[in-house]
Amino acid sequence: MTEVVLGSTEIKVNKNGFGALPIQRISHEDAGELLKMAYNAGINFFDTARFYTDSETKIGEALGDVRENIYIATKTAAQNSDDFWKDLNTSLNNLKTDYIDIYQFHNPSFCPKPGDGTGLYEAMLEAKAQGKIRHIGITNHRLNVANEAIESGLYETLQFPFNYLATEKEHELVEVCRSKNMGFIAMKALSGGLITNSKAAYAYQAEYDNVLPIWGVQRKSELEEFISYIDNPPVMDDEIRAVIEKDKKELAGNFCRGCGYCVPTCPAHIEINNCARMSLLLRRSPSELQLTEAVQAKMKKIEDCIHCGQCSAHCPYGLDTPTLLAENYKDYKEVLAGKKI
Ligand code: SF4
Ligand code: SF4
Repeated sequence: MTEVVLGSTEIKVNKNGFGALPIQRISHEDAGELLKMAYNAGINFFDTARFYTDSETKIGEALGDVRENIYIATKTAAQNSDDFWKDLNTSLNNLKTDYIDIYQFHNPSFCPKPGDGTGLYEAMLEAKAQGKIRHIGITNHRLNVANEAIESGLYETLQFPFNYLATEKEHELVEVCRSKNMGFIAMKALSGGLITNSKAAYAYQAEYDNVLPIWGVQRKSELEEFISYIDNPPVMDDEIRAVIEKDKKELAGNFCRGCGYCVPTCPAHIEINNCARMSLLLRRSPSELQLTEAVQAKMKKIEDCIHCGQCSAHCPYGLDTPTLLAENYKDYKEVLAGKKI
């Protein structure tokens, strides 16, 4: 079994972390089954967030009685210390525990530091002193915030998108974290569903011994694939390299990662995180799932775009989102009209 040590936290876990965002979308019963199945197979790192609705509650219900055998990371998107404490106490309660192993600031637009006026970092220190959290982490989608967090020396872990579509700058983050003994947790290890070859995704992560990928799973079949890699980890070979090269060519450049950070800003209520990458979803997942009446209605909402630019302003990848939406909508209508994909 391959294990990863998360830098100075000295937390040593199975190389397959459980990303608990998707379990929001399934019943308590199904989520419980999935979580227990992961735990019984040896997965012992579970990443969730206060923001993921009932995800924490489902973890508490399923794994509360084996709490001491697992590591839990959760996140707060609080902007002030009052909300920080509310979030932390709610998370502890939901997770049926009295401590969080890694408590992370959830994608802040700046790097919280002592004395910055928000009181956020001071609250982290106080929570640690009270034993409610064991380690302080940060998650982000922005390279500048991630680099500032690393340089600050204030954080023990960084959670950042990392997969085989990563750019040079993202590789550098991994290496700088290694040199600073900071844990690196890879989110979007399947690029929000655009990477469909889990074997290739795993083999790539296996090349980085300091990186812990968290796989966002919501189906038993998906989890079974990752569980099979515990005893038989895929290794990089020519076949996998060819898959990666092909995907890199196909997904090169400015594509929407589906992170969803722009979605709340849209006055037209367009589901940007899926609509702006529809052409890829159509071709990289069973296309019939994307051609239902419900999805057609979501795509039609693109016609309501008022080109306010809010989405682009909030996109951590600097995308021209309205143009991407228009291109994806044009392609979608052509596919509906019979264009071959
Ligand atoms: S430019 Fe269009 S898609 Fe973007 S936030 Fe404004 S209305 Fe929404
Ligand atoms: S347009 Fe940018 S911010 Fe919006 S979902 Fe896509 S990658 Fe995320």
